[in-house]
Amino acid sequence: MSSSEMQRLQASQNELQAMSYSDPLTGLGSRYRMRDRVRILAAERASDPAPFTIGIANLDAFKPINDLFGATAGDEILCQVAHRLKACIPDGAVVTRHGGDEFAFVLPLVFERVGAEKFGQMIREVLSAPYDLGDRNVRLSASFGFAIYPFAGGEFEDLLKSAETALYRSKRRGRGQITVYSQEIVREMRRATQLEQALRNAIISDAIDVHFQPIVSLANNHVVGFEALARWQDPDLGFVSPAVFVPLAEDRGFIDALSDTLLRKATEAALSWPRELFLSVNLSSAQLMDPGTSSSILAILGRVGFDPHRLELEITETAVMTSADTAHRIIDDLKAAGVRISLDDFGTGQSSLGRLRDFLFDKVKIDRAFVSRINSDRASAHIIKAIVALCEGLDLTVVAEGIEDAAEAAKLRALGCTMGQGYFYGKPADAAATLRFLNETHASFADYATA
Ligand code: C2E
Ligand code: CA
Ligand code: CA
Repeated sequence: MSSSEMQRLQASQNELQAMSYSDPLTGLGSRYRMRDRVRILAAERASDPAPFTIGIANLDAFKPINDLFGATAGDEILCQVAHRLKACIPDGAVVTRHGGDEFAFVLPLVFERVGAEKFGQMIREVLSAPYDLGDRNVRLSASFGFAIYPFAGGEFEDLLKSAETALYRSKRRGRGQITVYSQEIVREMRRATQLEQALRNAIISDAIDVHFQPIVSLANNHVVGFEALARWQDPDLGFVSPAVFVPLAEDRGFIDALSDTLLRKATEAALSWPRELFLSVNLSSAQLMDPGTSSSILAILGRVGFDPHRLELEITETAVMTSADTAHRIIDDLKAAGVRISLDDFGTGQSSLGRLRDFLFDKVKIDRAFVSRINSDRASAHIIKAIVALCEGLDLTVVAEGIEDAAEAAKLRALGCTMGQGYFYGKPADAAATLRFLNETHASFADYATA
């Protein structure tokens, strides 16, 4: 090899090394640069074990932006992100890019959780300003995961893995979240995974049950229908509330299987009830975003042989708002088939009165929060009175939820509320107990059953 060839080889090797230490697109350091910086810091602190922090920032939903505006615009955004990060990190800190839309920091002077969170909030703010693409502006958010040396790992690889775990948790919780790694979050994530596995098994093995809670006419206390409520008793985890496992099933993408089973079980049970009783079933917000929902509900009704006119679906306002067009189409299709729609938990969340005028709903269920305060808090009584008056004008039936004693029932009746539900009238009970209850109490059912 001639000396000039040797020189060229050496030069290209240097170039290669320099390249692997820096990111060609943004000019930031690479993962190797970060690794070296962390190793040097750890060595420096070996004698003086002061903590330091590393962090990862990952842009939220960057892929759809890349797909929509094209790769050139995507690259431009990444460069602007890099520029902002470089401009705002503190002295002595390092910012690197680990490919794609992931950036990382080494923060020698951040020692504990609160400091890491403050840094995350500052960067989140900086990255939230619009990105100028010449002809348009784009807005982004970012999720963060931090790990503090040496608690979250003594070696670079372990420390980075902890930061990735923290980032993963942030991503799971939605956009723009900040997590600092700790034993606590590891335990929490283990519990969630354990719960998810148990729930998957419970759905497959058909272990989720449906209970029914009576809804009565407040005028004469007659049962007019039942709300179906999901119940899960796990052999290891014990009783798990639907308020926990329904959102989990939504989040992990198996709400369809769960909802289908619940609807099938509920309608099958309701087939043995007197025909005049309705069945009310909760629809999850994920179902209202899925265009296949109306056909799958109607298919189940068809298979079971349950009359759609006896079915009510309870939906919340937030669910309608998140994916308004799809939700409206689903509701229209179901209403056309004869299904009625209730607005659940009214009074909480947005409660836009305008939405009541959209002709989407047949019924409004006033949230338990108002009902339980009705005799102690004048404002709650006034609010219920106003809701009742409004619904009367719009031809909507009003159901009060969570009635627990006779005084509440009397007050609601006086305020003009037509239907009620709550422990005072009956706790949720399984299909067999519900049938026994109907046999004993429902007069017309006794006639019907002996006919
Ligand atoms: P929700 O639809 O507001 O259901 C009413 C909740 O209040 C039920 O809790 C019920 O057991 C409880 N409740 C009824 N009367 C009283 C009372 O007098 N006092 C008190 N303190 N509570 C009362 P549950 O069964 O734990 O359900 C919680 C939530 O989980 C439901 O709230 C609903 O949003 C959701 N959920 C339950 N079953 C299903 C289901 O099959 N599918 C879907 N998508 N969601 C469900
Ligand atoms: Ca409900
Ligand atoms: Ca409710």
